[in-house]
Amino acid sequence: MLELTVDLGDRSYPIFIGSGTLSDAAKLTPYVRAKQVAIVTNETVAPLYLDKLKALLNDFDVIDVVLPDGEAFKNLQTLEAVFDGLLQARHNRATTLIALGGGVVGDMTGFAAACYQRGVEFIQIPTTVLSQVDSSVGGKTGVNHPLGKNMIGAFHQPNAVIIDTDLLATLPDRELSAGIAEIIKYGLICDSEFFTWLQANIAKLMARDTDALVYAIHRSCADKANVVAEDEKESGIRAILNLGHTFGHAIETHLGYGEWLHGEAVAAGMVMAARLSCRLGDISREQVEQIKALLQQANLPVLPPEGMTPDDFLSIMAVDKKVLDSRLRLVLLEQVGKAVVTSEFDRSKLDEVLAEMCV
Ligand code: NAD
Ligand code: MG
Repeated sequence: MLELTVDLGDRSYPIFIGSGTLSDAAKLTPYVRAKQVAIVTNETVAPLYLDKLKALLNDFDVIDVVLPDGEAFKNLQTLEAVFDGLLQARHNRATTLIALGGGVVGDMTGFAAACYQRGVEFIQIPTTVLSQVDSSVGGKTGVNHPLGKNMIGAFHQPNAVIIDTDLLATLPDRELSAGIAEIIKYGLICDSEFFTWLQANIAKLMARDTDALVYAIHRSCADKANVVAEDEKESGIRAILNLGHTFGHAIETHLGYGEWLHGEAVAAGMVMAARLSCRLGDISREQVEQIKALLQQANLPVLPPEGMTPDDFLSIMAVDKKVLDSRLRLVLLEQVGKAVVTSEFDRSKLDEVLAEMCV
C-alpha cells in the first residue's frame, strides 16, 4: 500500500492507495473521531460495497444515507436527505461523514460535512477512477444549481482519503476511460516523466492491471496534492488543473450534460488546447500527435462532437466561469509536462484551431 500526504499545515491529511485498502480497518478508524458515523453513498454503489465498509465499523454507531445515482441529483434538494438522516439519528458535531462513491457522492458528502452544524469531519472513499485521482483530493465540495454547475459549495478538506483500486473492477468501461483522461492531464500539465510512463503503460491501465492502476493513481494524486498544497483556494497555479476544461465545458454545455462524460469532453478539450499551443509555437506537431494517440488508446474522443461550430465554442466560452475580467483565459502547454494559464495569446490562432477542428 502506498501513502502520501496532502500538505496543508494543520489541515494536512493522508491518502492511502492500494489494492484491498478497504479491507483494512486500521486505515480507516483512526480518522473517525467519535462513535457516530454516517456513510453517504448511492443506489448503485451501496449494493456493491456498503456492507464491506460497514464491516470495518462494528464498534461505531453507523447510519447510512443512500442517494439516487446521477449528476442530476447533485443539488440542494437531494442534500436534504443527508441532513434528515443526521438529524433523525441525532448526530452531533463529533460525527464523521464517509463518502462512498464517485465524484458526485464525494462532492455532496463533503459539502454536507462543511454545512452540518457549521462543519463536521469527513472521509473520502472514492470508487471511480475520476474521483480517486481528482475529486476526492483538494477539498472542493459542492452541488449544482439550475443556473450553473458546482455553483454552491465550500472548501472543506477531508480527514483522509482511502483509495482501493479493487473497487474499480465493477466500473463501466466508459467511466474508466473518462477517469484516465484526467490521469493523462497530470502528465501534460506538470509531469513529463509520467506522460512517458503512460505512453508505455496505457494498455495495462485499460486492462485494469492492478499494479499499473496503483502506480498511476498514486502518481496522479501526488501531482494534484503538490498543486493544491501550493494554491489551496485557486488564486493562481491551481488553475492549470483545468487543462482542456474550458473547451470541455463548452462541449458539455452544447450537448447537454450527460451526453458525453466529463472526461470525454476534457479529452477533446485537451487536444484543442494542445493544437492551440502548437500553433502558438510552444509544442511540436509530433507532440500533439503523441497526445492524440495516447487519448485514442484510452478510447477517448480527440475531436469536438460532430456539428459543433466555432461560434458554439466561442459563445459558451465567453461565459465560462474561468473567464476573468471578460478576457478569455486558457490553460496552454508550454511543453509536455508544463502548463501555463494565460489570456495573452493571439486570438486569431484560436479561431484557426476552431475552424480546423470543428467538422
Ligand atoms: P459519478 O460520481 O457520477 O460516478 C459515475 C458512475 O459510476 C455513477 O453512475 C456511479 O454510481 C457509478 N459508480 C461509482 N463507483 C462505481 C463502482 N466502483 N462500480 C460501478 N459503478 C460505480 O461520476 P465521477 O466521474 O466519479 O465524478 C463526477 C463528479 O465529480 C462531477 O459532479 C464533478 O463536478 C465532480 N468533480 C469534482 C472535483 C472536485 O475537485 N471536487 C473534481 C472533478 C470532478
Ligand atoms: Mg475535470
